[in-house]
Amino acid sequence: MMATAGRRSLRIGGRQAAFYSIFLVSDQAVCDYRTMDDRWSWLDVGQRVRESRVAAGLSQEDLARKIGLGRTMIAKIESGKRGMDALELAKFARTLGVPLGHFLTRPPEVLSHRAELSDDNASEAEAQSYRMDASLQEWLADIRQLITLGVLQVPERRGCPASVEDHGSARRVALWVRAETGWNLDPIDSLMTVCESMGQLVAVVEIPGDGASLIDGEVGAAVVSRIGDPGRRRTTAAHELGHFVVGDEYSNDLGVHTSRVDREKIINSFAAELLLPLSVVRAQAVSGVCSRKELIKLAASYRTSWTLAVSQAVTAGVAERSLSRNTPTRAEFLEAVGWAPQPDLESVRVPPVFAQAVLEAWRQSMITSTRAVEMMRGELEISDLPGRDESDVEP
Ligand SMILES: [Zn+2]
Repeated sequence: MMATAGRRSLRIGGRQAAFYSIFLVSDQAVCDYRTMDDRWSWLDVGQRVRESRVAAGLSQEDLARKIGLGRTMIAKIESGKRGMDALELAKFARTLGVPLGHFLTRPPEVLSHRAELSDDNASEAEAQSYRMDASLQEWLADIRQLITLGVLQVPERRGCPASVEDHGSARRVALWVRAETGWNLDPIDSLMTVCESMGQLVAVVEIPGDGASLIDGEVGAAVVSRIGDPGRRRTTAAHELGHFVVGDEYSNDLGVHTSRVDREKIINSFAAELLLPLSVVRAQAVSGVCSRKELIKLAASYRTSWTLAVSQAVTAGVAERSLSRNTPTRAEFLEAVGWAPQPDLESVRVPPVFAQAVLEAWRQSMITSTRAVEMMRGELEISDLPGRDESDVEP
């Protein structure tokens, strides 16, 4: 998608919120706007460009060549001595693989504990997590825009009934989530709706990595990568829900006594129990042992990764860790249950409540078709939208 012209020039650092707008050639009569923090300056934009460049593994020379500007121009932009127009911003965003809004917004406080990319030798994992954070911030900005437009009401956050201090309490809270959402001990079909009914909005994104989440005021937001194994994707979504349900790691009991690694492991126990409860695995074990075939049945119907199924069976004391060595083949799944497991978080990319809000905003001409499609993150294409008179869309 290519930006062709700026309709209103970009104003930064003004007293009022600044706006910028771009035309996108794939959609006619289109002009989107986003608001920008009024305390934002070109220095902040430059800082974001620099971070994104480091995350993309590019030197200033590399970026200059790709963008078609001189290296000194890039240096000036990064140090805030030179501004950019909307067209240039779009070009930088595309080249660096971050959403355009990323250059124009301050990260929410919750994310500020994450390591800043400050040198030119960022590891691949850091760079990946930077891009994941950028897409999380974009997701939060989209949610906030729909709230501001009055079309989205974030589902109320359901409070955690007990404090989580160890693996046992994390598992009990997972069973409470199952009961609250009506699944009890049954296989959960869509994790997206479970998260939504607990008050967390999840988006499935095309960024390599696992996932990320934050709580910003009344909004709980998470992103999960679509790339990779579907079972792992579900584990990631359940893990991020764990962070949300248990609460911010720095403000509850978990944060005081345990290390970050231990806290992550406790959240993993929540995720495992949510996806495949230990009692379900035990019930499947005839005379105390769960056979490979029985476990394949469970992994298929509860749609977990093989690693998670084996790990639950080991924790339940009904299987050996060595089972995890050979991941079941498609043929084994067919033999065990008659069908291959269906991937979750594949065609559904945004929560139902969010999708409805996007369509409502679009129907009322509050957002353009291009913006609606962008917000739906691949769940919808322009051709899927019913006809609408675009002539009344405000620039
Ligand atoms: Zn985590």
